[in-house]
Amino acid sequence: MSNNYKPLSPETLCQRLGELNVMKKAVGANADAWTVREVGDGNLNLVFIVEGDAGSVIVKQALPYVRLVGDSWPLPLKRAFFEYHALTRQEARDPGSVPEVLHFDESQALIVMERLQPHIILRQQTMEGRKVAGLGKTLGLFAARTAFRGSDLSMTAKDKKADVALFADNVELCDITEALVFTDPYYDAEMNRHTTPQLDGIVAELRNDTALKVEVQHMKRAFTSRGETMCHGDLHAGSIMVTDDEARIIDPEFAYYGPFGFDIGMLIGNYLMAYHAMPAHISDAGKCSDFQDWILSVIEETWSVFRQEFLRLWRTERTGILYPKALYEEQGHNFASESAAEQLLAEIFRDLVGFAGIEMHRRILGLAHVAEIDTIEDEDLKARCEAKCLKLGQFLVINRNRLTGMDAVLAAARRAE
Ligand code: ADP
Ligand code: MG
Ligand code: MG
Repeated sequence: MSNNYKPLSPETLCQRLGELNVMKKAVGANADAWTVREVGDGNLNLVFIVEGDAGSVIVKQALPYVRLVGDSWPLPLKRAFFEYHALTRQEARDPGSVPEVLHFDESQALIVMERLQPHIILRQQTMEGRKVAGLGKTLGLFAARTAFRGSDLSMTAKDKKADVALFADNVELCDITEALVFTDPYYDAEMNRHTTPQLDGIVAELRNDTALKVEVQHMKRAFTSRGETMCHGDLHAGSIMVTDDEARIIDPEFAYYGPFGFDIGMLIGNYLMAYHAMPAHISDAGKCSDFQDWILSVIEETWSVFRQEFLRLWRTERTGILYPKALYEEQGHNFASESAAEQLLAEIFRDLVGFAGIEMHRRILGLAHVAEIDTIEDEDLKARCEAKCLKLGQFLVINRNRLTGMDAVLAAARRAE
């Protein structure tokens, strides 16, 4: 795959991609007149904005290592292949949710895609205290449609198994999640970092909480062994680009077949961290509490839209091998069908609560942190916010089978004040 692979640079890009018809059409016929800018806010890959007379595109190219760390941390180029295949599936399963793919070159590990404009990363928007109208609806629909339509509830057995096999090769990116999310935060792993000494006590407490660690490993087992649907795999607030009234999803290179509740759980963990970080970003108490209420309403809406859409698809698109209509509706057992759907949704809820809690832990104790919290300059203020998130995460993981609904999660978030 990588025989003639060469990383692009702003200097070489015009010459190397200048003859591509898709580039001529989307950017402009004369490649010499293009301007190229590297985007610096991703962690893993090269991303360029290419602009010309006709418009602009994004060129994303994998490197044989982690961009942020360098060649001491190798990472295979094939992640671009998984990103490309994930984008095409997400587009089919929830049209309009992701950037349009214009070109894919496997040997160069390179994707040319629609540039989202004037979109910015959701984390940035949140830190500026700007709301996004319809955010919960868009993300709830995305999570439900990709979850349902990528599963045995919808796909043919042949397609599903072929797809599971295809994505099963995304070993190295899954390995990052398995280590960085589910393991490292709970012991003294080399790449960890946390605000010290302020958090030392609570970190020791979490690592001594054997019930917590057992529950986290149950969640890790779900991650590694339950190939229920194609997950985005990295659905945090840095993988969502927004305007004041639109949201789109990017960066699915971690895609793999995993549990129904994984993506929405990670997402809700990110919302909850933003909730606790807001007082550091909005000094006016009234405005801050209004924005925090909005974040909680987004959580509520994301989940209620997910539920409604999942139920709608259950009733109208259940064409796969699971819960076949021949066993239920066709024998007049509609109630049993509805009840099976509710049981499945209850299981997804328990999982998402666990994943949300773990995401909050790993973003504060592990390698990759979130900007909403990490940019808080006052270390004591930052540590107080982090401690709330750690406690809330612990509560969610431990109590995930006891919480009755999203109201209970939101109440726990408010109590952590
Ligand atoms: P990485 O895998 O390295 O995290 P991302 O896909 O997240 O790379 O892209 C890094 C950054 O590039 C994003 O945070 C965003 O600012 C920008 N970006 C990526 N894709 C697009 C796009 N389709 N439109 C506009 N900007 C984009
Ligand atoms: Mg990214
Ligand atoms: Mg990425």
